[in-house]
Amino acid sequence: MAELKKKLGKKDAQTSISDLASRIHFSEKEGRIWLDDQRMVLLHSSALGVLRRELIDSFGIDEARGLITRVGYNSGSHDADLARKLRSSATPLEAIMLGPKLHMLEGVARVEPVRLDVDVERGLFSGEFNWHGSVEAEEHIHAYGIGAGTACWQQVAYASGFVSRFMGRPVMFREVQCMAHGAPHCVIVGKPVEEWSEAEVDLRALRADSLTSGLSVANRPAAAESPQSLLDDVDVVGVSAGFNAVCHMVRRAARTQATVLFLGESGVGKEVLARSLHRISPRAQGPFVALNCAALPEELIESELFGVEKGAFTGAHTSRPGRFERADGGTLFLDEIGILSWPAQGKLLRALQEREVERVGGTKACKVDVRVVAATNLDLREAVKQGEFREDLFFRLNVLPIHVPPLRERREDIPVFMNHFLHKFNHRDGRVVSGFTGRAIDALLAYHWPGNIRELENLVERGVVLASDEGAIDTTHLFVGGESVEGEWLTLNRDGSLRATSAAVQTEAPDPCATERLGQRVLAMLGEAKDAEITPLNEVESALITSAMKRTNGNQSAAARLLGLSRAQLMYRLKTLQRDEDTDA
Ligand SMILES: [Zn+2]
Repeated sequence: MAELKKKLGKKDAQTSISDLASRIHFSEKEGRIWLDDQRMVLLHSSALGVLRRELIDSFGIDEARGLITRVGYNSGSHDADLARKLRSSATPLEAIMLGPKLHMLEGVARVEPVRLDVDVERGLFSGEFNWHGSVEAEEHIHAYGIGAGTACWQQVAYASGFVSRFMGRPVMFREVQCMAHGAPHCVIVGKPVEEWSEAEVDLRALRADSLTSGLSVANRPAAAESPQSLLDDVDVVGVSAGFNAVCHMVRRAARTQATVLFLGESGVGKEVLARSLHRISPRAQGPFVALNCAALPEELIESELFGVEKGAFTGAHTSRPGRFERADGGTLFLDEIGILSWPAQGKLLRALQEREVERVGGTKACKVDVRVVAATNLDLREAVKQGEFREDLFFRLNVLPIHVPPLRERREDIPVFMNHFLHKFNHRDGRVVSGFTGRAIDALLAYHWPGNIRELENLVERGVVLASDEGAIDTTHLFVGGESVEGEWLTLNRDGSLRATSAAVQTEAPDPCATERLGQRVLAMLGEAKDAEITPLNEVESALITSAMKRTNGNQSAAARLLGLSRAQLMYRLKTLQRDEDTDA
């Protein structure tokens, strides 16, 4: 421990708990408590005990443990964001040490570090901590007495969530001794998922549903334990609340025959989810046929979907079945359904209603037993309003809509995907790229991911190609395609280093020089010289907003951050500007 203290040095001592405590604000008038920008609550520990007991008694110990684990992982992940923001210049070791401090501040336990070795670039992590007086163990003992197992599920998952977010790869903690098991204090040990034996047991608790293969992609046992399980589905990964909600929906929908509509931006993994849905549905033995409506010219769509009879048009030398017929007894996945032509929409509607299709140039209808799963990144309701999409087809498709959130709204999943794709491309290309550098992890976590998981996959693929063997992927290997890395807290400089952007600057005292520079810039805009004409305020505002929008390629969230506004405030101002322009015109 003395050695660890030496490693952490003076800087760690400076980040005292009172330093973190100064980030807590009680807003008496509004009835809110803030830890930096996160809203918090003061909860009676006995209430926590009651909640645990009710969960265990209602759902059984495994289900309850799963629920509590996911809550903990979520808090750990959020606190990692805060720590990252507070200490953007700290070494990984110092930054990770903020986790135990936040944990203490939040009243969980007294944390005593035993050992901690971190090498972010090589993906090495090894840590051990003692917890004295864990509130979770105390409440568990209060309800059940000293028992057979460990009890600090939420807090162990907090540690896993916190460190995974920092390392950019799944790191898992286990409680090796617990007060609830009769030990004098609790001890937790953390290392990368791959290094644990039987990690599956712990990982299962992180998943709301066996649909997700969770963190385990690199170290999954060859045979899945149940035929219904989707553990073999390597591309379905995630731990976030948003992702778990999607999995619940997919699981529920799979049992039915209802038409399912996946909604969400490009690249969020709609086809992967559609395949999973098919695999766990009663139609699993039947075919899964996919068609991307955007990938075919309009005049070919109908013959592709419904088949064609010989001689139906020039070039139709033979009769052939369409995707509907080929999917008979199985599932037909139609991606980018929003761009179907009006006549094709009519035929699709008929196929859904009558359960029969007629080949192009054919005269008789043919019965088909097909479950249709559709997907779109368009707002179909809006398309209906614009008269571009049939309302009756929309209602027919919209029986079970499942919204898949974009990656930037489930950042907890980013480290999981990073690790997943790193292993995938290392394996495919026979490479041994060790991991990601600290600044690469920062950049990947802060990036806004307009292309979602597909973009992350492409970036990691590029990184694996460009990084050296045994080396780590750095920002210079990742962002070479002109991506604008206007992250939440960090921005990429030309030399590949990161600098803090507005959000991080806000947490520090204003820099008097920066204020002066800003003043000069405003004066310059105003026409500086005393007798020059003064630019009206609304024009200054308009110019600022326009330049921020330009600089962020029209990304409203990033522009808002640059301007120190919330996205809603920016939207309001943009609307006002638009209105002013309209009135002027
Ligand atoms: Zn414990």
